[in-house]
Amino acid sequence: MELGRRLAAPVALTLGLALLGGCGGASEGAQPEDRPSVVTSIYPLQFVAERVVGDHATVVDLTHPGQEPHDIELNARQVASVADADVVLYERGFQQPVDQAVQQDGPPHVVDASVSGQVRGDDPHFWQDPVRLRKVTAAFTQEMAALDPGHGAAYRRNGRVLQRQLADLDRAYRKGLRHCRLHTIVVSHDAFAYLGRRYGLRVLGINGISPEAEPSPWHIRQLQDTVRRLGITTIYGEPLDSSSIAASVAHDLGLPVSNLDAIEGLTTATAHENYLTLMRANLRALRDGNDCR
Ligand SMILES: [Zn+2]
Repeated sequence: MELGRRLAAPVALTLGLALLGGCGGASEGAQPEDRPSVVTSIYPLQFVAERVVGDHATVVDLTHPGQEPHDIELNARQVASVADADVVLYERGFQQPVDQAVQQDGPPHVVDASVSGQVRGDDPHFWQDPVRLRKVTAAFTQEMAALDPGHGAAYRRNGRVLQRQLADLDRAYRKGLRHCRLHTIVVSHDAFAYLGRRYGLRVLGINGISPEAEPSPWHIRQLQDTVRRLGITTIYGEPLDSSSIAASVAHDLGLPVSNLDAIEGLTTATAHENYLTLMRANLRALRDGNDCR
């Protein structure tokens, strides 16, 4: 303990000097502290960043696992991490505290996923469309290669692999949802409009765009009428949804709730999953619930 404390100061000094030396001083087998640091704002962006940078940069996400990203608050340490980052990958217009931190004191390298992901209006859930996440991957890869040209080839290689996986995912969705009895889905949290637009699904939300937006009794009655009229047999809920409105709507209609993950974050239940495996699980749930052949 005592030895560690005595060593701490010289080590910090050495690291400081190494950083002052700039990128040119980076060598093979660099310490983690020498690598570029990336800060992301939500899990889908963390996933992209981690896949693209591999071992060549550190990635920290501002939304903790299990945390609801719609009402995130940043502590002082997190605000400082935005200022100190080499690159910030975030979605402008989704999380106000993150927008503020980037505006106040953001780093020179910022990738705004609302631009490359072509976000429309006030619906932030663009990552439910793999084609949009693929465009974000391309934009982030370019920024990393510009910031750290020494590892540019590795970033581009990793970026290409992820882009191919997202293209495969898009193909699986197009094929998997082509021939279905139902083309309407009822979801607890209205996070699937981008998915619906891409693959021809009409999406009816029980809650609003934010899961906390309470539906009116009139809205619930309309929804129940539609469900009966169309012969819908499944209500889609999700793990981060703390309210039980989906469950109570389903119960009133005598229908089962099927799990459809908005993939805003990983939970303890999905800690071993990732964006790609969760999207595949969502596709299986949609094919089951909507009678697809
Ligand atoms: Zn959401």
